Amino acid sequence: MKTMTCKQLGGACDKEFHANTFEEIAEMSKNHGKEMFQNGDGPHLKAMSDMQELMKSPEAMQEWFESKRKEFESIPED
Ligand SMILES: [Zn+2]
Repeated sequence: MKTMTCKQLGGACDKEFHANTFEEIAEMSKNHGKEMFQNGDGPHLKAMSDMQELMKSPEAMQEWFESKRKEFESIPED
């Protein structure tokens, strides 16, 4: 298992996610983001609007995603 925080995944807090694959951890962070969005959490709303800005460019989004994937792969197993 590997660990990444909400912040490392483009979020706004230090919540840790544990997963074996990048896809899994990205999904966990997405679900957490949605939950925080529904709670109206300010810092997460800001992080999500930054992310939406990034998503306007598919290339930029792809690049961001790939850089996070590399980051995930470079982390040692827990
Ligand atoms: Zn968070």
